[in-house]
Amino acid sequence: MIGIPQAFAASYAQARAQFVGAAAVAGLALQPQVHPLCGPNGETLALDVVREGPLDAPRLLIVSSGCHGVEGLCGSGVQVFALQDGEWRAKARAQRVAVLYLHALNPYGFAHLRRVTHENVDLNRNFVDFSQPLPANPAYSALHPVLLPPEWPPSEANTQALLGLLNAHGLQALQAAITRGQYQHPDGLYFGGTAPTWSNRTLRAVLRREGARAERIAWVDLHTGLGPSGHGERIHAGRDEA
Ligand SMILES: [Zn+2]
Repeated sequence: MIGIPQAFAASYAQARAQFVGAAAVAGLALQPQVHPLCGPNGETLALDVVREGPLDAPRLLIVSSGCHGVEGLCGSGVQVFALQDGEWRAKARAQRVAVLYLHALNPYGFAHLRRVTHENVDLNRNFVDFSQPLPANPAYSALHPVLLPPEWPPSEANTQALLGLLNAHGLQALQAAITRGQYQHPDGLYFGGTAPTWSNRTLRAVLRREGARAERIAWVDLHTGLGPSGHGERIHAGRDEA
């Protein structure tokens, strides 16, 4: 069994190799969903799917990484460590819980060390009903020209404009307007897209195949960036608030 630090990689290519290797050692089949583009060094990009447990298992635990590209460096480490942790795998088997590992939901962002997909989409804001009018975010639209100034690095006037908005509205309101997601500025921040992205379509196809027969599904989607460093902050979404 490898130590925790050894489970973590410094690049997408290394992370993928470690994940593929850990799945092979565990005797689990790899189902790569290959992305149409390549990594920065020409490497193959894929959403790699590994399942432990039968397709008709009543309970399914999904563990996914790399929704926000670069954050996959952390999520991959958790997945690689779990795959070679015999005690954890035996516990899941004993509880009749199948485990579905989804490595690199957004492999392009992971490999290029950026948050968004190749469509500049912030992936977890891309799961909306595109047949309906898309959510408006006028507060972001007002900020957009200041957040993405025509010249870079930003001019002094731009910095002052941003500080002015900060003083007028407060950090919390500005943060809420920016991170809420927006669907009107394809070159902007936290852009949700105007159609389902490659990652969205691929993930849905995988879930239709892997999740259709489960009676109960739990999902741990691994991210980084919130909470104190080194601390696992749990953000819960579900029907049962208890
Ligand atoms: Zn994230």
